[in-house]
Formats: sequence, structure tokens, C-alpha cells
Amino acid sequence: IIITTMTIFWLLSILISLYLANWTLQPVMLAYEKQKEFVENASHELRTPLAILQNRLELLFQKPTATIIDESENISASLAEVRNMRLLTSNLLNLARRDSSLKINSEETQPEFFDSIFTSYQMLADDADKEFSSSNKIEGNINIDQSLVKQLLTILFDNAMKYTNDDGKIAIDISKSGNFLAINVADNGEGISDEDKKRIFDRFYRVDKARTRQKGGLGLGLSLAKQIVVAYNGKITVEDNQPQGTRFVIRLRLDNPLVNPARIFQKH
Ligand code: ADP
Repeated sequence: IIITTMTIFWLLSILISLYLANWTLQPVMLAYEKQKEFVENASHELRTPLAILQNRLELLFQKPTATIIDESENISASLAEVRNMRLLTSNLLNLARRDSSLKINSEETQPEFFDSIFTSYQMLADDADKEFSSSNKIEGNINIDQSLVKQLLTILFDNAMKYTNDDGKIAIDISKSGNFLAINVADNGEGISDEDKKRIFDRFYRVDKARTRQKGGLGLGLSLAKQIVVAYNGKITVEDNQPQGTRFVIRLRLDNPLVNPARIFQKH
């Protein structure tokens, strides 16, 4: 009996320690897996433009007698890839910095701050023959981190421009509701399926990889946008726009930005 009891006790303690080890190691393993996936994705994203760049430069090198048209086509394709890589590396740097600490530098801001951003967007939309409308209902000064809020708006505006066709219509409304800054960005583009809506805020997630790459998408914009929103202790949601397209609804807490937004990526 003593031997049986001791064996059962021994087996039980092994089971309990295995369970505890799994329980304590699981978050570490998950974080490790996420980090590995991130590095793999980042390397993959850099490998493609580098390969294209190499091909294009080799062509230039091997065919010194090529026509000016061929040469300028190769140079402009190479430049496009260099721009892609610059964008990717600066976004990666932003993400890495923000993973560890994101500091909100609030400044007293006049409502006109948004009007000047909207004027630049209007110009970009005009250049692309798209319709842009904005409504700024902020009255009086508010305290915000101007560079973060501008970055957030620009990510959403850029996406709306990228994912609408020639008859694209983009509308941004901004207002203050209680202690929140409310931002709505709507477009009449291709829309996002319910399945994809759950994943678009993940790093490197792109709905249609071939098409978004063509449009210069890296799948990082919305994860940066979400990080900024989390730093503001706010909320970002995506819904269908009526009758067509996508609408992002954002609320930023003006009174209580979060101190440690690093937690965001542990949830994904
Ligand atoms: P990307 O740089 O690829 O645009 P994002 O993180 O900003 O990366 O967006 C992730 C994906 O979500 C995009 O690849 C695109 O498929 C989809 N998406 C984002 N915004 C829109 C939008 N306004 N309309 C349709 N699809 C969108």
C-alpha cells in the first residue's frame, strides 16, 4: 500500500510540475513564436524588393547599349523598390520603438491643425482624381500628440486612397464627444470581408497579397494605427460603409492616454 501510494503521489507530482511548466512557459513560447514570425515576415518583405532591385541593376549593367526607354524603365522600377524598402524599414523601426515604449507628447492644439492636414489630403485626392470631403467639428483647443494623431489619420487616408478605384470617394469626420476625440474615415472602395476584418490589424497582414504589394502595401499601416489608438487608451473598429466600402471608427481618450501600450502585440 505504501509503495502504491508513493507511486501515485510521485506520478501526481510529475503531472503537476509538467502542467505548471507548460502554464508558465506557454506565454514565453508564444512570444518567441510571434517574434520569430515577425523576423521571418520582415526578412521576406525585404528579400522581394532586393531581388527585384538586383535583377533590374543587373539588366542595366549587362546591357550598356539598351535604349534610353529601357534604361529609364529599369531605373524607375529600381527606385520604386528602394522607396518600398525605405518605407518598410522606417515602419519596422517605428514598430520596434513602440513595442518597448510609446511616449505621448501632448501639445495644446487648435482645431485648425486638422484643416491643414485635410488641405494636403484634398490635394492628393485631386491629383488622383478622387473625391475627398472632410468635416472638422472640433471647437476650442484640445491636447493631443500632433505627430501621432497625424500619422494615424494618414495611415487611414492612404489606405482609403489605395483601396478605392477611379470613382473613389473618401470622407473624414472629426469631432469631440465628451473626453473622446472621434474620428471616422469612410470610403466607397472594395470593402473588407468579415473574416479579414478580424486580422487586418495584425502585423504584415494583407488581404490580397499580390494586389496590395502592387499598391505598395506592406501590411503594417493598420498595426501601427492600432498601436497609436491603444496608447491613447482608445478604440478602433472597422465596419462596412453603406452602400459600399469600408469605415474605420476611432475613439481616442483625451484625458487618459495609456502609459504602457506594449501589451498590444501580446494579444495577437
Ligand atoms: P497595407 O500597407 O497593406 O495597406 P495595412 O495594415 O494598412 O497594410 O492594411 C492591411 C490590409 O487591410 C491591406 O492590405 C488591405 O487589404 C486591407 N485594407 C486596409 N484598409 C482598407 C480599406 N480602406 N479598404 C479595403 N481594404 C483595406
